[in-house]
Amino acid sequence: MGEPAGRRQSHAEYAIVRQRRIERRGELVGAQRWRNSDCLLATAVALNCIARRLSTRDDAEIPGGNPPDMAVRFIRPDVQEAIMLATKVGLVDTTGTVDTQMMAAVAAALNVQVTRDLPKYWPVSASVSYLTDHKTIPQGVWPVQLVKTLPPDEGGFHMTRHNQPYAKVIVTPGSDEWAVDASHETIEMLIDPNGNRLQTSNAIEIVDGKIQDGTGRFEYLVEACDPCEADPYTYTIDGIAVSDFITPHFYDPDVTPDARYSFTGAVKKPRQLLPGGYISWVDPTTNELQQILWVDPNQPPVLRNLGSVTGGSLRLFIESKTYHKSRENREQMKPEARAKRAAYRQALVAAAEVRARHYS
Ligand SMILES: [Zn+2]
Repeated sequence: MGEPAGRRQSHAEYAIVRQRRIERRGELVGAQRWRNSDCLLATAVALNCIARRLSTRDDAEIPGGNPPDMAVRFIRPDVQEAIMLATKVGLVDTTGTVDTQMMAAVAAALNVQVTRDLPKYWPVSASVSYLTDHKTIPQGVWPVQLVKTLPPDEGGFHMTRHNQPYAKVIVTPGSDEWAVDASHETIEMLIDPNGNRLQTSNAIEIVDGKIQDGTGRFEYLVEACDPCEADPYTYTIDGIAVSDFITPHFYDPDVTPDARYSFTGAVKKPRQLLPGGYISWVDPTTNELQQILWVDPNQPPVLRNLGSVTGGSLRLFIESKTYHKSRENREQMKPEARAKRAAYRQALVAAAEVRARHYS
């Protein structure tokens, strides 16, 4: 007589138990402290091997037939699947003054910025393309329109009657600095499409002309480019100047080693305003909007009370009060820097012309 049924697991029963275990833990996810990804990967491969063997076992003792297909996969902690809807931004010239090659070059640079640089710090999935005809805006595309002028009470950020975001950027003839503004609007629109996102962080104040942490906390409007918007802090992508932007660490309580506060590293600590920039918040004691404006780098920063919010969104309100002011005293790019960028782009065009001949 053998052992009573149920006392001892047969191979088949054991296989089922193993299978269930594997099914329950079908994904091996590395916790942050698991530095050794190779070790996890090896474990996942081994488990996958067992799972597959069990799935293909031809064993009549398994009740209900063969187990279904199984697989164990290893997800690296730094590239876990994130489900995000992709946003399409379209750069379009309504003035008819910008040459198509420049439009395409800026759209390509912005596309690199939003696919390569921005997702390192913000959960954004987006692309930027050049729309050749401002009279046709494809469905689902948020346009960034180049325009000749903007009314005095309007900023770059706009919303349709259905509250969908879009942007307007002023083009000055003969200047290509609009690319920085287009980058600014694109980034802010992608990080906060409605312009209402508030982030709580330590209060700030101006003491003896310098900005420092104050008492209590403010609700800061998440405007990713405002604190570092001045031209000296831009960086270039394929010879096109684009805007620096803050990272979420900007709202940290204190400085921590290795933390980045803006993409280029120009912002060195939380809540630091660079000359030429500004920052806006809701004051919890009055429920009104305030900002520190440092538009003229040769003057100390200024505290402004903007009062109660009117209009569609906080960013619309802020820009209506700030946009033109921030441009009046804006520090211009140095002529040498401008010449250097122009020469760089010229070299790219020349190389592209030579390269095209290889394909004829
Ligand atoms: Zn802004």
